[in-house]
Formats: sequence, C-alpha cells, structure tokens
Amino acid sequence: MKNMNPITKELIAPCGMNCAVCSRYLAHINNLKRSQCPGCRPRNKTCFYLFAKCTGVNHRIKYRDAVFCFECDQFPCKQLKRMDDRYRKNYGMSEIDNLEYIRQHGIENFLEDQYQKHRCERCGGIISAHNGKCFQCDEVTRLIEKLESR
Ligand SMILES: [Zn+2]
Repeated sequence: MKNMNPITKELIAPCGMNCAVCSRYLAHINNLKRSQCPGCRPRNKTCFYLFAKCTGVNHRIKYRDAVFCFECDQFPCKQLKRMDDRYRKNYGMSEIDNLEYIRQHGIENFLEDQYQKHRCERCGGIISAHNGKCFQCDEVTRLIEKLESR
C-alpha cells in the first residue's frame, strides 16, 4: 500500500510544511473554486514567509535547490519559530517537529507517517491541516465551495 501515498517528497517544503495537507494545495488538486497553490517547491518561488527575511544558507541558494531549513546554521531561525508558533497554536502541527522527524528518521518514513496521520478513513484522501476536512469527499465542504463560487 506504500505506493498509494499521495504525499511525495517534492510536497515537503524546506521549512518542514507538508504542502499535501495545506488547504490551498488540496483546493488545487481537487479543483475547488478558492485560493489554490501547487505546493511550495513545485511553485519554485521564494518563500514569502521565510525567505524574504532569510539570512541563512537558504538565502544564498536557489529555492528549488534548498533542501531543508535544518541544514542552515541559523536553524531554527526567528522567522521559522514565529511561523511554527502560529501553526502549533492554530493547527496543532509544527514545522520544526516535522523537520526534526525528517532529520532523525529520513524523508521516506516521514512521508509514510504523514500519510497515516492525515489520511481520510472514508475515501483515502488527505485531510487538511488547516480546517480538518477531507477536500475529496467531504460533502459539506463541497457544498460550501459550490455556494461560494456562485
Ligand atoms: Zn475523504
């Protein structure tokens, strides 16, 4: 069943964010009428939240080539900690914890762990970390999207 995991390596941003559970990415792959994003790495633009103010190693190399923030000598920097605090408080997840997991157990184990954590029991889709909904099968969500798009 391992090859069914839709959470792939390129969906894990340098900051540790799992784009696969981001509501904007899920809107993108499920073609919902709302703010969409193909994921941080696939988008291949400078990270607005971190890299605009980044003075670490990621500042000097191309975003696409940046591997993970933990490779930076300033990890975890002020910007990353600020974002991490917000995510802990609002969404019960942590980019820094994600990065520590990747550092200790490797990316492949992280992808599998994330899939176990965020998989929808009903349809096998992915549940958003931002609103706790499965964008693939949640009828309530789909209905709201439809109404909003009118
Ligand atoms: Zn589902």
